[in-house]
Amino acid sequence: MAKKLLEVKGLKKYFDVDKKQVLKAVDDVSFDIYEGETLGLVGESGCGKSTTGRTLIRLYGTTDGQVIFDGEDVHKMSGKKQKMFNRKVQMIFQDPYASLNPRMTVADIIAEGIDIHGIKSSKKRLDRVHELLETVGLNKEHATRFPHEFSGGQRQRIGIARALAVDPTFIIADEPISALDVSVQAQVVNLMKKLQKEQNLTYLFIAHDLAMVKHISDRIGVMYLGKMMELTESEKLYENPLHPYTQSLLSAIPIPDPDIEAKRERIILQGEVPSQINPPSGCVFRTRCPVATDICAEKKPEWKEVEEKHFVACHLY
Ligand code: SF4
Repeated sequence: MAKKLLEVKGLKKYFDVDKKQVLKAVDDVSFDIYEGETLGLVGESGCGKSTTGRTLIRLYGTTDGQVIFDGEDVHKMSGKKQKMFNRKVQMIFQDPYASLNPRMTVADIIAEGIDIHGIKSSKKRLDRVHELLETVGLNKEHATRFPHEFSGGQRQRIGIARALAVDPTFIIADEPISALDVSVQAQVVNLMKKLQKEQNLTYLFIAHDLAMVKHISDRIGVMYLGKMMELTESEKLYENPLHPYTQSLLSAIPIPDPDIEAKRERIILQGEVPSQINPPSGCVFRTRCPVATDICAEKKPEWKEVEEKHFVACHLY
């Protein structure tokens, strides 16, 4: 079995809205990520998936809980260990244009990472930039250009090259394909899969719908209102979703076969996503759950492994 690279234990990230109110963006979430795998993290906007990613990489501090990377507590690191963590763990963002400095050439953007390795020779530095551009499917001539000269898909490739420049082992990709045309999304996903194989990378791939994460994830976690609802292997999740929320998300994905599509039942969720400042008592999904019962309002469902490698938080199990 692969080694645990990252352990998230009871992670909480709350934000103060004012003196009296607290927004529970991530509320007691636990999961592991194994070396070389892709864990997809999905849920509607405001479910806490991006805050989880940003707390893992220390962009935010924790309110409670622990993040352990390679045996070390991420939020207690300092000095050399912190430097090493900053190199090994990289992030790719949703909007590649906003995350690339418009006044820097592509060579300088990518070389920022190379500089950490202390490569002094400008020839070696440029060779490495060219190598990285080729790795992500661009070419040498792109090195002297500026971000605005590229398409969205190419800019995401530049973002990936920048992340790879420091030889990371773990990449958090926060909705990396959501802003791209559908035709380009598959290209970026295929590139990420290829790089993962070649460089033994581990990914946390954050997306807002299950259709997007299907082709890249080994396992998928589904979040709702700051909590993890279900987590299991991708195939299991698609074939046998247990949580009513996962079932509703999957029923919204169109099936290409018109006969099957016409016959199948859609689960339309009623109502809006409740406020994270004042979440429902008991199960946070109960106000929209089509099969909720009295106990769902009274008691929080436990996060438990209901069958091998299949975790769910729901009173039905
Ligand atoms: Fe629905 Fe109750 Fe399960 Fe929550 S615990 S998902 S409300 S059945």
